[in-house]
Amino acid sequence: MAPQGVRVRTTRFAIMAVLTLLAGVLAEAAFAHAAPAFRLALLADAAGPAAAPQAVVSGARAADFRALATDAAVPFSRSTGRWLRVALASDWSAASPPLLVLRGARFNTVEVYAPPDYRPVPLALTRPASDPRFSRGSLVRELPADLRAGQPIYLYLPPSPNPARLSVAVDALTHYLVRDLRHVRLIALLTSVQFTMVLVGLTLWAALRERLYGYFLGYITPQMVYLLIVSGELYELPGTDLAGRIGIRALWIAAAVSAPFALSFILAFCDLRRMTPRLARLLAALRWPFALLALTAALLPMAWIQRWQADAGNALFVLSSLTAIVAVALAWRRGSVEAGVFLLAWIPQSVLTALVAALLVLRQPLPAWLEYGHLATLAFSSLVLTVGLGLSTLRARRERDQAHRLAEHDALTGAYNRRALLARLAAALIDARQSAQPLSLLFLDLDHFKDVNDRYGHLVGDACLKAVAEAITAQLRAGDTLARWGGEEFVVVLPDARPDVAVAIGERIRRQVAALGVRVDDVPLELTISIGVAGLVRGDDSPEQLIQRADAALYRAKADGRNRLVLHPSLVAMVAA
Ligand code: GH3
Ligand code: MG
Ligand code: MG
Repeated sequence: MAPQGVRVRTTRFAIMAVLTLLAGVLAEAAFAHAAPAFRLALLADAAGPAAAPQAVVSGARAADFRALATDAAVPFSRSTGRWLRVALASDWSAASPPLLVLRGARFNTVEVYAPPDYRPVPLALTRPASDPRFSRGSLVRELPADLRAGQPIYLYLPPSPNPARLSVAVDALTHYLVRDLRHVRLIALLTSVQFTMVLVGLTLWAALRERLYGYFLGYITPQMVYLLIVSGELYELPGTDLAGRIGIRALWIAAAVSAPFALSFILAFCDLRRMTPRLARLLAALRWPFALLALTAALLPMAWIQRWQADAGNALFVLSSLTAIVAVALAWRRGSVEAGVFLLAWIPQSVLTALVAALLVLRQPLPAWLEYGHLATLAFSSLVLTVGLGLSTLRARRERDQAHRLAEHDALTGAYNRRALLARLAAALIDARQSAQPLSLLFLDLDHFKDVNDRYGHLVGDACLKAVAEAITAQLRAGDTLARWGGEEFVVVLPDARPDVAVAIGERIRRQVAALGVRVDDVPLELTISIGVAGLVRGDDSPEQLIQRADAALYRAKADGRNRLVLHPSLVAMVAA
């Protein structure tokens, strides 16, 4: 059986899937347009070291270039440098100058040799001196406005262990700025969602001091840094030179720091240790390799780790994502609402993360919708989780209130218990004294109730007790208190009620109980109640004295033949007067 609210969550899931898709489609639209025609060619080198720049740039190797499709995504090679040649199909005639636009290099540097001087200009996501007119969504180099058809531009792709594929485009400056602005809007939206969630998490943590919020922060803060690194926006912030210098390591560190916190968060938030103990142990153990990866990414020389760090990290991500999804899904099936919320947040994110990881491992290019969609799922998942955290805080508060209620009430009849009665009576006495108002007390005891139990059994007896409590409550006002004193005895506190009013209420209760007509096997059961009434006589009456006097009056009612109400002698004069 699925837990309640499945439909609500399914709706939310659908909304998020649509939003994610929308972000992807918008991004795709942003980059699809009629671009100026150009030709792309790759230097076909025999295996061995890459050609020297002078040889390429001088045109001596012109005959060795082989044409590529202009939308080709050219992979960086691990072992050797690669040369690309870009040339316009016709002379540049647009009003704004042409730009060379490179996408997909990720953390690799590309050296551009362009006219007029063909001096090498290195471009990279992380470089501090990139052209300040453009965002870091692409690597951009302005070309001369008088660029002619066939005039070559050379790109050198140095050997690199970081898998990436370079896409090349030529665009007019004005067109590019429009699209770049769209990119910036999208990234700003995603980053600010994520940043807001970090702030909310921080506030909750500061206010509630619960470990769960600490895990949440440890999880989504590096995730935000990850988003800033991938979009390159991090390197625009002051004081991030070091992050720029360590290049892809920064990404590895952010991911590897976030992951163990994410796992700790899942374990606590979805209560996995109780729900799926074995998978929970596996997930808890998976935190250590991540912690180790964070350390190696931060400390070991690049030459030692570049071969396996990214692949080990991606493989570990896929493994722990799958384990987490299975564990959380099980917890959800077993009734954890939090697990449902987590699935909602986690599935789109982990599906896209797994896709990105798989494409990277397979050395395939990342389509634009996936690049943005992935970042969007990260932001949306923190959003959903923040809402989920709010919900579980609300639930914890409700449970606390319920525990509080249980501690004050009798489980069978729902009336207050004796402890709560004494506290409420003491408070009512203080109120009565301060405002010089009367206060009355009824002590009620069912007649020959032992016989009812003996004849019909305890279950019928219990049903009678409930029915009697309801009958009494029906005669009371909002400020009155009904308590179960014990067994088949009840006490009613009537603030602001003079003795004659108390007698009238008591009589109504007595008649109601006698008329209840509880039936057993269609035979009506005789049920009557005796009532003693006491009231505030002197200013210094204590709760115990009041109860004792009401009990004494009840004793008289029993002795006088039951099914009757007796007023304590101290009040008789007041009623008569
Ligand atoms: P009296 O008219 O003198 O009050 O006679 P009585 O039988 O009502 O009084 P007594 O104190 O001898 O017995 C009270 C009985 O109430 C004993 C027990 O069987 C019954 N009782 C007490 N608490 C419960 C309860 O929670 N459920 C049920 N079913 N019976 C209860
Ligand atoms: Mg009794
Ligand atoms: Mg009784």
